[in-house]
Amino acid sequence: MRTKLIAGNWKMYKTTAEAAAFAEAFKSLFSASKPKNEAAICAPFTQLPMLKQALADSGIGLGAQNMHFEEEGAFTGEISAAMLTEIGVDYCVIGHSERREYFAETDETVNKKLHTAFKHGIVPIFCVGEVLAQRDAGEEFSVVGCQLAKGLADLPAENVRRIVIAYEPVWAIGTGRTATPQQAQEMCAFIRGEAAKLYGEAVSQDIRIQYGGSVKPENAAEILGQPDIDGALVGGASLVPDKFLAICEG
Ligand code: PEP
Repeated sequence: MRTKLIAGNWKMYKTTAEAAAFAEAFKSLFSASKPKNEAAICAPFTQLPMLKQALADSGIGLGAQNMHFEEEGAFTGEISAAMLTEIGVDYCVIGHSERREYFAETDETVNKKLHTAFKHGIVPIFCVGEVLAQRDAGEEFSVVGCQLAKGLADLPAENVRRIVIAYEPVWAIGTGRTATPQQAQEMCAFIRGEAAKLYGEAVSQDIRIQYGGSVKPENAAEILGQPDIDGALVGGASLVPDKFLAICEG
């Protein structure tokens, strides 16, 4: 039985003071409501140590938004997996479309990062999704299938069964335009089917597959009600404690 995971992706928002205020407010809402879905916050690097302390014993997970695939080295401005495990993060978002678009992330670097994350015990939230032109051309399944095959290359089944895959159609991220629950379900079912071809049915049934793209309290319940959708990756609505909580309750 898969527990749904609602992960907030804070992107490049919130100072430490703002993040601390969010954590206090969200923690008390979360403990009062005890939502049925798991929650995690994927915050900027500079907020992670403070959040680790602030969220201790709350049941709310913590994630980073990126990491380098190398163990260490002359990579100015980068963060290693060991630096993240020292803080105690549970998750790391890998291959977000904004990283692919603005920071030259490729399926190959994504694959290397997935290997490194698992080596260090970090659960990756592995993002896939097509751009609008690809959907309009009817290429969404081949695009996502290719991202999956290349991203998961050479990962063993015992790792893959713990992965979180986030299907995020790029045209729905930060646009207010959400995929319909049917479109989201169709792609998440396709992803599970591809995982079954690569790793077998049992592994595919363990994988948590999220939908991401303009999820908000008003649309969360219908999206999360789909059989192959095991949570959501939430950008904008994760910045506001009561909105994020409402999605966790959805
Ligand atoms: C995201 O950042 O992954 C995302 C889905 O953003 P939003 O919810 O704002 O569309």
